Amino acid sequence: MRVLIAEDDVTSRSILQAVMGKWGYDVVTASDGETALKLLQQPDAPKMALLDWMMPAMDGIELCRRVRAVETADPPYLILLTARGEKADIVAGLGAGADDYIAKPYNNAELQARLGVGQRVLALQERLRRALADAEQLALTDALTGIPNRRAIMARLQSEMARGGREKAALWVSILDLDHFKIVNDTFGHSAGDMVLCECAQRIAGVIRPYDAVGRFGGEEFLLVLSTPGTALFKDAFERVRGVVAARPFLAGQTEVTVTVSQGVAQWNGAETAAELIRRADEALYRAKENGRNRIEYTPQAPGE
Ligand code: GH3
Ligand code: MG
Ligand code: MG
Ligand code: MG
Repeated sequence: MRVLIAEDDVTSRSILQAVMGKWGYDVVTASDGETALKLLQQPDAPKMALLDWMMPAMDGIELCRRVRAVETADPPYLILLTARGEKADIVAGLGAGADDYIAKPYNNAELQARLGVGQRVLALQERLRRALADAEQLALTDALTGIPNRRAIMARLQSEMARGGREKAALWVSILDLDHFKIVNDTFGHSAGDMVLCECAQRIAGVIRPYDAVGRFGGEEFLLVLSTPGTALFKDAFERVRGVVAARPFLAGQTEVTVTVSQGVAQWNGAETAAELIRRADEALYRAKENGRNRIEYTPQAPGE
């Protein structure tokens, strides 16, 4: 475990470095507060730091304050090292963001024990951070297909709308619905239908560009969000999605089945809400179904037509 020692006194620093090295810590040192802050703000910064109170450039208290001012999911564990043992000083140190303090002259066994406490706290913090990240990932992923779920794709649409509003980029959505999917279920069974849905999601996710997004909107419907600088390329993108589904049969249980999709596409007008935009795309989808399925309809119409 890497630990930063910030201490301006050469002798104290060397002694600390030696003893902590002996305890198995990978020690990084700084002789003033500013250097220490830089080290703690690096991408791969030490997760634990022993900070002297009195240092040139920036004292330990200010250092704590500056580190805590940055919001992060894995803040470092900060121990203040101080000759100032007054209650008011200790309260000020903890108030500035230190997790613990050790009074100088310190006792080696106590220092080692307190570093151990820091490690336990950091390990707990890391477990929580991972659990939270996993939970967030789960909350945004569709359990069947593994692609973003409705909540995730809607959040993506909202953020593209916020960005598009600023950058005046063209934003398109497509509601995509599998054609006659009930027949697939009725003929081959629900689990075969699930297989088709999964592969369909994979195929679509495989042909969209890295900056476009697809999510499962519900049942056998998907939502595509395309953000395109020009108007020329978006039609190709939707066509590629239609094509990759219709191109070859799907494995449904023991047999193969041909599946197609219909799409209703709408371009964001820059003012409407996500719900209004999707409602317009839905109207176009209805027309795509009426006009024979395995096709794309635009609303009100594709530019240039
Ligand atoms: P259309 O071309 O008009 O869309 O016909 P359709 O049969 O696809 O439309 P309908 O809305 O009548 O049926 C949708 C079907 O999708 C019925 C439903 O059981 C099936 N479905 C929805 N979600 C799932 C799912 O998670 N797994 C499976 N296997 N089927 C699903
Ligand atoms: Mg000092
Ligand atoms: Mg449907
Ligand atoms: Mg359908």
